Amino acid sequence: MKTPLVEMDGDEMTRILWQMIKDDLICPFVDLKTEYYDLGLVHRNETDDQVTFDSAEATRRLGVAVKCATITPNAARVEEYDLKQMWKSPNGTIRAALDGTVFRAPIVVKGIEPCVRNWKKPITLARHAYGDVYKNVEIRVPGAGKVELVYTGEDGTEIRELVHEYAGPGVAQGMHNLDSSIESFARSCFNYALDTHQDVWFATKDTISKKYDHRFKDVFQEIFDAEYADRFAEAGITYFYTLIDDAVARVMKAEGGFIWACKNYDGDVMSDMVSSAFGSLAMMTSVLVSPAGVYEYEAAHGTVQRHYYRHLKGEETSTNSVATIFAWTGALRKRGELDELPELSAFADKLEEATLATIESGRMTKDLALITSLEDVQVLNSREFIEAVAEELKTRL
Ligand code: NAD
Repeated sequence: MKTPLVEMDGDEMTRILWQMIKDDLICPFVDLKTEYYDLGLVHRNETDDQVTFDSAEATRRLGVAVKCATITPNAARVEEYDLKQMWKSPNGTIRAALDGTVFRAPIVVKGIEPCVRNWKKPITLARHAYGDVYKNVEIRVPGAGKVELVYTGEDGTEIRELVHEYAGPGVAQGMHNLDSSIESFARSCFNYALDTHQDVWFATKDTISKKYDHRFKDVFQEIFDAEYADRFAEAGITYFYTLIDDAVARVMKAEGGFIWACKNYDGDVMSDMVSSAFGSLAMMTSVLVSPAGVYEYEAAHGTVQRHYYRHLKGEETSTNSVATIFAWTGALRKRGELDELPELSAFADKLEEATLATIESGRMTKDLALITSLEDVQVLNSREFIEAVAEELKTRL
């Protein structure tokens, strides 16, 4: 390797898997160079979360990161880890620092068939992770009266719209978004499409939301026409806009193999639909891509807390490490591309092949054994699965 990867270690069961993957699947074969940041909750608390900001800064500097799942503290975690305060979600911090978009894609393998029969290729879901209902302001309207939306410009300009004249109690909410954020989202989607050679679909409800959603539609189209149309034509890929209801209907009938760009709420809902229809949250990868071309790879799932408590009691676990393995391969392959190290990218391909071949041979963790269509299945524990992948990998190198 030439440039180090930014390595962001994490929490609980995925932290255990992280070490096993490095020990058994990466370090014996790759002269691994990383800049290590421990984002485990204990260390985040010790450093007043500075380590999370430092790791985001390192990612901006070095260009590619690989991240283990981390705990986002809630009240129970504050008590469990005796935290100085309820630290924010590391993913939120990193995403804000890099201004990135998250792309989630299922890992497709023979034996784990999607519920939707015609889905033959992965559907990559891109979620705009800023604003709308996630940064809304709400009022519980107590009784008769009116709700208005008022803009006051710095120069005193005023725009005033009546939301509703209430005859009795009800509810109201205000939402916002920013041209700059929508532009970053559009660029991330178009860049990632060129990177992965896939079409982009984008959908909103612009027929009903004639100013708000329409702005999203216009920004995407303006950026596409001005900056990407030629490159898309050259690459033989397309940008397709439609209404969200039409998009949903078409997605169900499509065979996959495209990027579905969604507004924040649509992305929240549709990413869970896509992941569960493809089989399992444990088989989803996730990559944060910034408009400046910085990449952070991780598994889409969390720290698998229940398995960790079992592990601490000395009990056997059968935790699926596939998405975490693919976070490593995604990062190594990207580093290989950027640093012109074809052997490194080839290694990433082989490790992915070995992982899929292990599952296709019937050796898998319990979560997959419960949903597979394969007949002869051997359920492996967390370590056995990684060892089986290592054996497959050796035969390929
Ligand atoms: P989770 O993804 O850890 O688990 C959700 C469910 O899916 C559980 O039933 C679990 O058993 C199953 N599951 C998930 N991954 C699996 C795997 N690899 N193998 C087998 N089964 C798997 O989510 P959760 O339980 O809601 O959260 C646990 C912790 O993870 C929380 O502290 C949360 O803050 C954190 N979290 C982190 C991230 C991240 O870092 N990207 C994402 C989500 C949740």
